[in-house]
Amino acid sequence: MADLRIRKFPDSVLRTKASRVAAVTHTVRQTLNEMAQTMYISQGVGLAAVQVGINKQLAVIDVGEGLIKMINPVIVKREGSEAVEEGCLSCPGASVKIKRAKQVVVSFLNENGDMMELRAHGLLARAVQHELDHLSGRLIIDYLGPLKKILAGKKIRRNRS
Ligand code: ZN
Repeated sequence: MADLRIRKFPDSVLRTKASRVAAVTHTVRQTLNEMAQTMYISQGVGLAAVQVGINKQLAVIDVGEGLIKMINPVIVKREGSEAVEEGCLSCPGASVKIKRAKQVVVSFLNENGDMMELRAHGLLARAVQHELDHLSGRLIIDYLGPLKKILAGKKIRRNRS
């Protein structure tokens, strides 16, 4: 069923700012299922639609606490800060220490079109912030200084296949 190809740096699709989803249709639900399947196959903890070339504000996350499917997610509250190393399925081989909020509250529509509000902390909060970055065209290597970013880019190009 799922045959979504994960796009890797420097694919320009990763720089797309995703559009809001106007209506939660069957196609949207199907896309979320396929994204989840692709995430599990790739052994990731999260996947944003732009990573598979779909220009929509959709993300799936599972940090081991169950699958969360998010439509039009928005972070409405951030608390604390913590710097932790992160990887990304679109940046194979790169690992970047990123300072992010320790806790976030994210609002989104679920696959039934209901407005949800999720309070996340730890790895889940980090995954939420990481996936929302993707939906605005931002990658982990953007947190690096100019020289380190060039080196990371070269490493990713070597690792991508
Ligand atoms: Zn990523």
